[in-house]
Amino acid sequence: MQELMPSTYKELCDIRHILEQNYHDMLDIEFTIQEGKLFMLQCRVGKRTGVAALTMALDMLHEGLIDEKEVVMRLTPAQLDELLHPILDAADEKKHQVIAKGLPAGPGGAVGKIVLDSETSKAYTAQHIKNILVREETNPEDVEGMRSATGILTARGGMTSHAALVARGWGKCCIVGCDAIKIDMNARTISIDGKTYKEGDTLSLNGSKGWVYAEEVKMIDATENPLFQEFMKLVDKFRVMGVRTNADNPEDAQNAINFGAEGIGLFRIEHMFYGKNSEKPLEKLRNMILADNLESRVAALAELEPYMKEAAKGTLKVMDGKPLTFRLMDPPLHEFVPQTEEKQREVAKERGMDLNDLKKRIEDMHEVNPMMGLRGVRLGIIYPEITETQFRALFSATAELKKEGFNPMLEIMVPLTINAAELHHQKNIANRIKAEVENKYGIQFDYKFGTMIEIPRAALVADQIAEVAEFFSFGTNDLTQMTFGFSRDDVNAIVHKYVDEKIIPADPFNNFDRECVGELVKIGIERGRKTRANLKCGVCGEHGGDPTAAEFFFTAGMNYVSCSPFRVPVARLAAAQAAIKAGASK
Ligand code: PEP
Ligand code: MG
Repeated sequence: MQELMPSTYKELCDIRHILEQNYHDMLDIEFTIQEGKLFMLQCRVGKRTGVAALTMALDMLHEGLIDEKEVVMRLTPAQLDELLHPILDAADEKKHQVIAKGLPAGPGGAVGKIVLDSETSKAYTAQHIKNILVREETNPEDVEGMRSATGILTARGGMTSHAALVARGWGKCCIVGCDAIKIDMNARTISIDGKTYKEGDTLSLNGSKGWVYAEEVKMIDATENPLFQEFMKLVDKFRVMGVRTNADNPEDAQNAINFGAEGIGLFRIEHMFYGKNSEKPLEKLRNMILADNLESRVAALAELEPYMKEAAKGTLKVMDGKPLTFRLMDPPLHEFVPQTEEKQREVAKERGMDLNDLKKRIEDMHEVNPMMGLRGVRLGIIYPEITETQFRALFSATAELKKEGFNPMLEIMVPLTINAAELHHQKNIANRIKAEVENKYGIQFDYKFGTMIEIPRAALVADQIAEVAEFFSFGTNDLTQMTFGFSRDDVNAIVHKYVDEKIIPADPFNNFDRECVGELVKIGIERGRKTRANLKCGVCGEHGGDPTAAEFFFTAGMNYVSCSPFRVPVARLAAAQAAIKAGASK
């Protein structure tokens, strides 16, 4: 065009320049030329990928076209997320057909061979064959396979299921609740809509959308982009709300720090019983769970304590000078007792126990509704020796680190609280053990004592609870479960139908329910701060990483959100945008 009609070309370039200066953005321009005359037809802000959005925003800043605040507003959290994960190539994706859809539990893309169990995944990975672990649902015994697989696909489970939580923690591509999949473990095949795929066949997953393909889709590598660092500096300039991470081992904690986390908002001690190096502590935990009298429980706990101390110490050390909120044990106990006959036989043998006695003990522990049963603080009230062991392990780790010259900032929180009396009960144990440990090590230390708010009742009596608790952490996974009465693990199909029928707008485990769960959060913060004006409040449920909820949490008065390490940059951006929108940025 420049060669054929230079003056019209110049006219077009000039108009383009005027438009860009006026819109302060890159535009998609439509024009036509008729008998040498240029007609402008339409213009609109142009669509762009994450990488392009980042590059353009910083270019425009350097050209003086937009200011720093505008740069921060230019990238959507989803575009930033795109930069952090390898993804399927969108252009190539269009050439393939989606064979099934599930919930987008872990973002990014993955391509690999179907494997149906942990062992096969590890065997494939050992031969450098990328693989996708396909399971009905996952449980702690699958963790090593989940670690070794490139992606995870489950037929059941919601956004807070085991698979979803673990995968997100590792920034791994994962789709859950893909109910079209039928797995046949005998034939070692899966079928979708009547079509069968063998173990070893290729699948591609789009974990950001929840789409499954039965062919290899091209991947794009999200390479380190120096512009990313420049952009994140600007983000933090305007951010007011803190961003912490949910992490429970030194590697994840370090990863999160590298992504800009300012502390740990949730350390789930149960995770030390999953995966690599968990055999020994898991054996002790099982002894504790299966103990049928105080003496044997105390003996099992004494053996477990050093493992807990080391687990806490390793992560406290990495977090040196940054707060670490340790959540007292909240194990779904049933997940840790052997389920299959074969495993039960193995455990009975290990413990020198009669198989029938073991089965009887497991049967005695059976709860009709374990999510509402012996969990959270209830465990520490029924068995105070379990809390005592954890306090001793945590305080000892803190004392040892202080002696070694580190600055551990321990915060301990009690899960599933319903009233202040529960907290007084646990705090009394803490006071006693703290004095004992300080005496033993000859050193004094501080820590903060707080609670999770994850049962509606706790939000309503937050004023009383704040008399004991120095901080609140809102567990919005359970708070959503308890507010809706929807089981976190089983409700998937019902939620899908409810969303399809427009009975509810979205899956509340995925999209924070401002109307009611949000109302409870606001009430909790408000009432808590009536008693304790400087009460620190955070959110550590999965919604802490939901950028669409950041504005709500910020205006509700939350001091920080906590999310999995790979969500940290996105949460930082969402928090900065919330502050800018509220006119409250730094
Ligand atoms: C929660 O309930 O929001 C929470 C963080 O705890 P968990 O998911 O471990 O129950
Ligand atoms: Mg919870």
